[in-house]
Amino acid sequence: MRDLIAQVLRDEALWVGRFLILGQPSDCSEPVPDLAAIRKAMGECERCGLCRTRKNIVFGQGNARAELMFVGEAPGAVEDETGRPFVGPAGNLLTDIIEKGMGLKRDEVYIANILKCRPPGNRDPEPEEVEQCIGFLDAQIRAVAPKIIVALGRIAAQNLLETATPISRLRGVFHEYKGVALMPTFHPSYLLQNPSKKRDVWEDIQKVMEYLHIPRPH
Ligand code: SF4
Repeated sequence: MRDLIAQVLRDEALWVGRFLILGQPSDCSEPVPDLAAIRKAMGECERCGLCRTRKNIVFGQGNARAELMFVGEAPGAVEDETGRPFVGPAGNLLTDIIEKGMGLKRDEVYIANILKCRPPGNRDPEPEEVEQCIGFLDAQIRAVAPKIIVALGRIAAQNLLETATPISRLRGVFHEYKGVALMPTFHPSYLLQNPSKKRDVWEDIQKVMEYLHIPRPH
């Protein structure tokens, strides 16, 4: 599923059942996905039961050519209302990390989630929901082609890395997702509950800044 969706999207692509079927590229090279085409292919997605309770699909937002991509878990209440990722209290903290911590503008990076629809009550995503949805994220990652992904929290890190290792052991160390560097760190909503962990996140973010040669803001 991941790879099939991620091969998005040539003009002759057809949806057959759950799968996006693509014609063979004439030169056998990987087709380069395009964010607008991925969103178009998603449509009013009904591939999992979250379509029945969502208000809006939260696709992703930011620079389509970003060097840095943040991946979270799933939309929360404010995101569901607005259709934009990370705009609630946790989103404000992420914006502070990007703008005050890293000295970047929020619209310089790309932000997306594992799931595009809000799980009721912000419960953890079910495995079958991730299975149905993560191919869209995989296609987004290929489209944006960031130099590094920051996986925010346990759900994002474990699903991208396909591991059950706790986030406390994954964070702070460079991993790889299909050839792209990946740094797991704690989710901003966890930081709101556990402010003492901000120090750990700042250490992780500084490693990302070094990787991207971003100078520390004064
Ligand atoms: S969570 Fe993903 S797979 Fe499920 S309905 Fe929303 S967009 Fe489709």
